[in-house]
Amino acid sequence: MAGHRGIDGGRPSRRVAIGLGAGMGAGLAGLAAAPEATAAAAGRSVDVVVVGAGFAGLTAALRLRAAGRSVVVLEADDRVGGRTKPGRIAGEVIDLGGQWVGPSQTRLLDLARRYGTATYPQFATGRNIADIAGQRADYEGETPTLEPAAMAEFVDVIGKLEKLALEIPGARPWTFAGAADLDSQTIETWIVANAKTPAVRSAMRVLTRALLSAEPSQVSMLAYAAYAATAGGFGALISTRGGAQDALFEGGTWQLAARMAADLGPAVVLNAPVQRIRQSDAGVVVGTPDAEWRARYAVVTAPPPLAGRVHYEPPMPAARDGLTQRMPMGCVIKVHVAYARPFWRERGLTGLVLSDRTEFGPWFDHSPRRGGGGGLVGFFDGGPAQRWADRSPADRRARVLGDIALYFGDEALKPVDYLEEVWTRAANHRGGYVAAPPPGVITAFGPALHEPVGRIHWAGTETADAWVGYIDGAIRSGERVADELAARL
Ligand SMILES: Cc1cc2nc3c(=O)[nH]c(=O)nc-3n(C[C@H](O)[C@H](O)[C@H](O)COP(=O)(O)OP(=O)(O)OC[C@H]3O[C@@H](n4cnc5c(N)ncnc54)[C@H](O)[C@@H]3O)c2cc1C
Repeated sequence: MAGHRGIDGGRPSRRVAIGLGAGMGAGLAGLAAAPEATAAAAGRSVDVVVVGAGFAGLTAALRLRAAGRSVVVLEADDRVGGRTKPGRIAGEVIDLGGQWVGPSQTRLLDLARRYGTATYPQFATGRNIADIAGQRADYEGETPTLEPAAMAEFVDVIGKLEKLALEIPGARPWTFAGAADLDSQTIETWIVANAKTPAVRSAMRVLTRALLSAEPSQVSMLAYAAYAATAGGFGALISTRGGAQDALFEGGTWQLAARMAADLGPAVVLNAPVQRIRQSDAGVVVGTPDAEWRARYAVVTAPPPLAGRVHYEPPMPAARDGLTQRMPMGCVIKVHVAYARPFWRERGLTGLVLSDRTEFGPWFDHSPRRGGGGGLVGFFDGGPAQRWADRSPADRRARVLGDIALYFGDEALKPVDYLEEVWTRAANHRGGYVAAPPPGVITAFGPALHEPVGRIHWAGTETADAWVGYIDGAIRSGERVADELAARL
């Protein structure tokens, strides 16, 4: 993985492991092996094989086990957590993947409560910066400020998007009356049709990249509106207070995945990339390079483009295969920068910058809660991530610091530490935050996202009925698939 310095980079020596990264699992290890795990290790036969140890897979496995079923979770990586991952910068544990939680993400908040993990609010005191179409404006609150002549149109365009998000059934957008029309447009063509002012168009493009890690020209407008619908609206997606960036977890988000894996014990098998799934009337046989697992059912939680790399026997129906060929991951690089102190706060700034002049961004304050140090976290999203993923870490670092210095001055050029994760080059992920379909895909192939194929069921945040693309959605999908199977087992 290009340039990453995750804290659990070492490969575990055991094939069957509880999935805790070195240094993160203190206090969680030493768990008793679950009975079915012992049986599974011996006979490699369980009720359900779950593919992928992200939040969806771990949730599904725990729920199935709670219903009295035996499970094994096969994970391709040498760690659990999927699109969440821990790192350490300037002595602080941070998240290299998913991190924020919002107030309506109740499944994730419930999970954190269960494990006694507290949240704290995203720092948002002061002025944000929007620098769009050559005009810099500082603003407070959630709606970026554009040049005065553009504001009315900006509010109007966001209002149109909100209206769509309210009308569209987010989990089943292909059933929407206007689905064919919206699915024939990209977000870009919709923006151009609905906004005349260059500043509004540019702001909408910046927001799209920030929300989907994809270019507006690459994603269906129906998919975008449905995405917002499953979050409860566009405002919920872009907002800090009350929205998707509302709060963080003390000690990081990834620890919740580690704790779920610890509860599952040896039923989580790392370094176990599933290469093939064979199904028949008798059950499924799931193959990794080292082993074959027999089960009555399989749950695949890998996102569609990765699920499509598994070899299925018999082959997938045309609808499912067509879907997985047509739903690419977004492109994203996540970056943390540590400073001796949060000097931007001294100037009354929150640290949030939205700009169409930079390659890096948006970025947010991510200063440690204690000790007085400063921190920023931000992204290369969509086109910028495509352009920078294959550059050297030193090139990226120079670009990131230069972009931050444009707004925060030369102090930004002197960090005490720098850490990044190039998700687009991560072998088992191939990007993030989410897989997003281009035009024509959801209306033609959408139902194949959820519909089981024989004994194989699908989960993962892309299949969620709420908060698609987020950890909360992943958890919901894990619950849904466990309930589907409990009804069949
Ligand atoms: C940079 C970044 C920032 C994000 N920020 C946020 C945020 O702030 N808040 C938020 O809620 N969400 C955020 N997200 C999104 C969030 O992380 C994901 O929605 C969520 O983690 C997805 O969980 P999942 O279980 O559905 O999928 P995944 O986490 O992708 O899990 C799927 C698992 O399957 C494994 N796998 C794939 N193929 C195979 C195979 N053949 N065999 C075995 N295993 C396989 C993968 O290794 C992976 O572990 C972010 C994501 C990224 C990348």
